[in-house]
Amino acid sequence: MNLMPFALARERTLARVSPLAETETIPVASALGRVLAEPVVAPFNVPNHDNTSMDGYAVRFDDLASGRDSTLTVVADLPAGDQLTQTIGAGEAVRIMTGAPIPDGCDCIVIQEVVQRDGDQLTVPQGQTRAQNIRRAGQDISAGREVFAQGRLLSPPDIGMLTSLGLAEISVHRRLKVAVLSTGNEVIAPGTPLEPGQVYDSNRSSMKAALQALGVDILDLGIIRDDKKAIAAALRKGAAEADVVLTSGGVSVGDYDLVTDVIRELGSIDFWKVRMKPGKPQAHGRIGDAIFFGLPGNPVSVLATFLLLVRPALLVMMGCKPEPMKQLVVPFGGDPIKKTGDRMEFARGVLHHEGAESWVGSTGSQNSGILSSMSRANVFIVLPDEPVEVHKGDLVTIVPIEY
Ligand code: AMP
Ligand code: MG
Repeated sequence: MNLMPFALARERTLARVSPLAETETIPVASALGRVLAEPVVAPFNVPNHDNTSMDGYAVRFDDLASGRDSTLTVVADLPAGDQLTQTIGAGEAVRIMTGAPIPDGCDCIVIQEVVQRDGDQLTVPQGQTRAQNIRRAGQDISAGREVFAQGRLLSPPDIGMLTSLGLAEISVHRRLKVAVLSTGNEVIAPGTPLEPGQVYDSNRSSMKAALQALGVDILDLGIIRDDKKAIAAALRKGAAEADVVLTSGGVSVGDYDLVTDVIRELGSIDFWKVRMKPGKPQAHGRIGDAIFFGLPGNPVSVLATFLLLVRPALLVMMGCKPEPMKQLVVPFGGDPIKKTGDRMEFARGVLHHEGAESWVGSTGSQNSGILSSMSRANVFIVLPDEPVEVHKGDLVTIVPIEY
């Protein structure tokens, strides 16, 4: 059986999806994690006036003597939020607080810690420089500049930036809706004791949690028995009500792996055997307008294939620009890895930071049923298709695990 190289699987996954066309206008205050549907251009300078970055005194630099202290007269007091109408003349200074606009005539802020004040008399030590402690208008964002491109996934500082531009509402792509189900006669929900042969449905929980982290709407279709009719009914509902249908289990080659057959009947399917470990068998397809991802049943495989293939595709559907997989090269430490087989391996690893040094080690056993290894990991260690041994000090490629 021909295995598809991981890089091709990723390329094909991204090529199959496109951004949701529908947009909506929402308050900036609730736009965290949403994706901009239009670029944002600064309507004015931020800050919109020259202002002081320190508490102290606004002075005219040319009034200051070089090589000795200078004495000036404080003629006004300027808290942040106030404005001065007067122009400051020769020998005059203004008491000024951080954020207040620079008074006309002044071009230097002397911090309060270095001056001496006696009534309205101010002594400024030598050694000041022109324009010190002044934040220029437009220093953060200049008027007319594109602040964010379309497709920007909004972060907390982005929300702050949009607000500093005076925006109260913003146009974003509508929320993506993903239907989730798990399959398996042995799979049960927590709440009843496990009978021999049963497992709790960790996959649906981890898939839903990973989707929550992406901020998508979730349609939970529960646990579906290994029965074609039941699977078909659930998939039909998912495809009718959501943009994406995500399943776990039933895509391997066992007698009860029925998901692939059902998709073939309901829609179209590409069944992929990907040259990756974990996550070899995967079903990618369409049911009506919905995109279908059939992930393997092993708890580690579900999360690995979700992170490496599905999540990037969901981000594109959400409106983000496709991005290459993040990869770093770091020294390997810890117990050696002996990798056999012919599939690219995404071994679970922990990136350690000790002082200025970083190194990555394996989480130990790499069996795809060991969910605790995924829970401990903060990176995948990428091992090539070919067999390889990795020893302390070798450089290895890692992919950060980001939800
Ligand atoms: P499958 O791909 O359906 O053959 O499942 C592969 C393995 O993953 C089996 O050992 C299943 O018991 C286990 N498994 C399948 N679905 C789940 C699930 N939802 N939660 C936890 N383990 C599962
Ligand atoms: Mg199964």
